[in-house]
Amino acid sequence: MIRQYELIETVKRYDPSADEDLINRAYVFSMKAHGTQQRASGDPYFLHPLEVAGILAGMKLDSGSIVTGLLHDTVEDTVATRGDIEQQFGDEIAELVEGVTKLSQLELQDSASKQAENFRKLVLAMSKDLRVLLVKLADRLHNMRTLNAIDNEEKRRRIARETLEIYAPLAERIGMGEMQDELEDLAFDQLHPEAREGIDARLTFLRKEGGDLVARIIGELSDVLREGGIKAEVSGREKRPYSIWRKMQRKSIAFEQLSDIMAFRINVDTVAECYQALGEIHAHYASLPNRFKDYISTPKTNGYQSLHTGVIGPHRQRIEIQIRTYEMHSVAELGVAAHWSYKSGEPITDGPQYRWLRELLDIMEHASKPDEFLEHTKLELFQDQVFCFTPKGTLINLPQGATPIDFAYAVHSEIGDTCVGAKINGRLVPLREALSNGDQVEILTSKTSTPSPEWERIAVTGKARARIRRFIRLRQRDQYAELGRAMLQKLFRQEGYEFTEKAVAGVVKTLKVNAVEDVYANVGSGITPAREVFNLVFPGHRSEQQKEQEEQRRGQVIPLTRGQARKSGDPSIPIKGLIPGMAVHYARCCHPIPGDRIVGIVTTGKGVTIHTIDCETLESFYDQPERWLDVSWDDRAADDHVGRIHAVIANEPGSLGNLTTVIGKNGGNITNLKITNRNTDFFEMLIDIDVADVKHLANIIAALRATREISRVDRARSG
Ligand code: MN
Repeated sequence: MIRQYELIETVKRYDPSADEDLINRAYVFSMKAHGTQQRASGDPYFLHPLEVAGILAGMKLDSGSIVTGLLHDTVEDTVATRGDIEQQFGDEIAELVEGVTKLSQLELQDSASKQAENFRKLVLAMSKDLRVLLVKLADRLHNMRTLNAIDNEEKRRRIARETLEIYAPLAERIGMGEMQDELEDLAFDQLHPEAREGIDARLTFLRKEGGDLVARIIGELSDVLREGGIKAEVSGREKRPYSIWRKMQRKSIAFEQLSDIMAFRINVDTVAECYQALGEIHAHYASLPNRFKDYISTPKTNGYQSLHTGVIGPHRQRIEIQIRTYEMHSVAELGVAAHWSYKSGEPITDGPQYRWLRELLDIMEHASKPDEFLEHTKLELFQDQVFCFTPKGTLINLPQGATPIDFAYAVHSEIGDTCVGAKINGRLVPLREALSNGDQVEILTSKTSTPSPEWERIAVTGKARARIRRFIRLRQRDQYAELGRAMLQKLFRQEGYEFTEKAVAGVVKTLKVNAVEDVYANVGSGITPAREVFNLVFPGHRSEQQKEQEEQRRGQVIPLTRGQARKSGDPSIPIKGLIPGMAVHYARCCHPIPGDRIVGIVTTGKGVTIHTIDCETLESFYDQPERWLDVSWDDRAADDHVGRIHAVIANEPGSLGNLTTVIGKNGGNITNLKITNRNTDFFEMLIDIDVADVKHLANIIAALRATREISRVDRARSG
């Protein structure tokens, strides 16, 4: 446990000009503010901020950071206010304390929907001055060191998880290797105590077995370098349990020999000596493939520099070696704090570690470099989520596996409903493409477009799925209601009654539904026979004989039965149920093809027009039942028929060519093509294709859907 005078001594040792009085005043302020508060361990609370200040002093930070460490919990946990601190310690300290307080509050909100916003706030709080993060990390480190004082296991695990997922990666980002290592190992202890135990046991065994092997390897490496005329310090260190465990997880291997757990380091004075040392090592030992990394010429984004190599070293041991200067070593351990001078007392807003933050902030603000955002968010702070942006830079937070459909609905339901395509990072993609971190997503919409039933399978968010399902249900219900109404109208008329909605309304209750629309929908979908509704409206009307007749006629309303075929005159027309000699047309509105459920509409003097049963045009014939003809496809249907599809494709070179190629490859012959809507990004078109039957057309549609430039294809139902 550090004491007040030890803290002052530590600071004075590296910064003789440190403001001793300021630190003392902060200590007293903190002690008074926390008063009799206790930690979970039963210790006086104010020992915690003192320890945090001690950790910061260990990082050789300026008086401002030390003072902030002492005061960091006063605003959050005591009656002291920001105003009090500003008054006694000045604006800069008040600002820092406030920043740390804000970071602490972020921890408390862990609902998934808040995380994206939290992430933003976190970045903003850090970006003003990285010292805020340094104090927060020191705070967390001390809390982790004393975590076992907390009785509640669930709470301990939650804090440990948060440390592993948020704070350790942040420490890594700003290059604080030492801090990261300790945080990870402390969290690992909490989260996987059995694994930790197993690794410890194995380490002990290998250490004993290896005996003085490590010392002999160090000795031999030192000799090699000395003979090469290089002044170097060689050390061997055991890898940390957590990193061993991670490696075991990644490669699903167990560690077997000492060299799996040891890493050797060569420290030299200059960069030139780093490369000389590397040369000597490679001259004496066989190098392992793919192990050499030059982080000196290409430092990591957190400023880390070193040469890494792997060789079959002394005593035939496969070993890893890191070569770096003393200065690089200090950066590797202390990161952002290494270069930054305690003397200046200025905010930390420079250095490669800070640049990362600055860039992240820029990207979040402007969303102009999604790729870079992706690289930097390897933080893996939120592994089960993806962060995407609208073209205007608004952050949209979605679960892993989300597609542009989810994105569209997350932006606005309306946008989801009218979505026809999507561009990810400027490239048109299929709507089922999974989004990745940092993607910039642009949703293409068309006012006349509606959700496709297909979408239900490619959406993953509840919001999108619910909305799509609802839409489909409503539309289906509308269609059924329309059909049911027509069926009832026809039946009423056949029976010699005027059809009125009012009459049907009278039986709503009897049928145990809520509205007339429900009666229609149930009739249309076949749940309630039309005859039953009629009988309820006009009880006693029906006779046995009439019933038979009605049954027969009812067949005309749903003309799908392959009734007795009346041969048409022309054997090339593959339709049964035609009157011989009658001219036959295929309706242009719905383009029926074999396999479709169809009905014929007779026009005096013109013959029969074949429609699909769901064609909207049929609506205008509902009140002329005499014109309806019960027809069906003949099994031996051989000729090609025109199928019409509606497609939305990318407006880019070659996309139209690909479309026609795909259709051709699948045995379809394009007979007509009409562009109905065009803009700079995509165009919509109607395409008539000669196909054998419904299955054939379905195959072509499936093939088109698998084509990159084609964002949407459906069978055209009218128009
Ligand atoms: Mn604290």
